[in-house]
Amino acid sequence: IPGQPGAPAAESRAGAPADGSGLMVRAEQVHKSFGSLEVLKGIDLEVRAGEVCCLLGPSGSGKSTFLRCINHLEKINAGSIRVDGDLIGYRERGGRLHEMREKEVAAQRRAIGMVFQRFNLFPHMTVLGNVVEAPVLLGREKKAAARERAAQLLERVGLGDKLGAYPGQLSGGQQQRVAIARALAMRPKLMLFDEPTSALDPELVGEVLDVMKDLARDGMTMIVVTHEIGFAREVGDTLVFMDGGVVVEAGDPREVIANPQHERTRAFLAKVL
Ligand code: ADP
Ligand code: MG
Repeated sequence: IPGQPGAPAAESRAGAPADGSGLMVRAEQVHKSFGSLEVLKGIDLEVRAGEVCCLLGPSGSGKSTFLRCINHLEKINAGSIRVDGDLIGYRERGGRLHEMREKEVAAQRRAIGMVFQRFNLFPHMTVLGNVVEAPVLLGREKKAAARERAAQLLERVGLGDKLGAYPGQLSGGQQQRVAIARALAMRPKLMLFDEPTSALDPELVGEVLDVMKDLARDGMTMIVVTHEIGFAREVGDTLVFMDGGVVVEAGDPREVIANPQHERTRAFLAKVL
């Protein structure tokens, strides 16, 4: 029984959000500026629980900034972002909004996994150590249990035979799969991917996309910034095309790709297809 003391922790927190809306992410009129440079000019975006949202757009359109706002790496200037019903960065108490304390921010961030273009593994730690580190450090799990779970996650991303290897001994694709396992170790309810394959040699892209497909099949809610149109078409539930800090169009990936409604979308797709 969920929530019952002593009940085993769910394998993943992916699933229906608590507020009954079916939405895992709801961004409304998100604005973000860096000084006088307005980067996000009112982003509206919704991702249903269990869905994969692929975010496309030219370089500089604000994709990374948007992901970073969801994960507290940037603070928005206006609008709101909710994840699983909860406002990012604010507590609603007595009908008023209060800015979150550091501890609350940390708790919210832990529920959101993020995978970057660069893998950022700890070079002096083994593959297993990299995945075990966060849950143990945060005191969420006993070391033995965390090690066992980390080994299972590494098995799942196809690295069951690399537990004792160091990042420097692995290919880029293998390192990125470790980074995914490391994010999953925190049992996130949402995973954000920021161009996870664009730093990889072409022959290594497929193995990382396969792991992401497996996650999607398992029901993980994901926002994926990618130029991999094949992935968007095959795995994406929605495709959102951003340009100049706004959402230009969004819809079923197959439809948007086959029949883009806006000239800017057409021009972009013509370049990446
Ligand atoms: P994308 O990921 O779509 O390529 P980004 O979100 O990285 O776009 O960047 C959008 C714009 O915001 C770019 O013009 C970039 O130079 C600018 N930008 C991003 N981060 C910062 C920052 N920390 N300070 C100033 N400008 C930034
Ligand atoms: Mg980017």
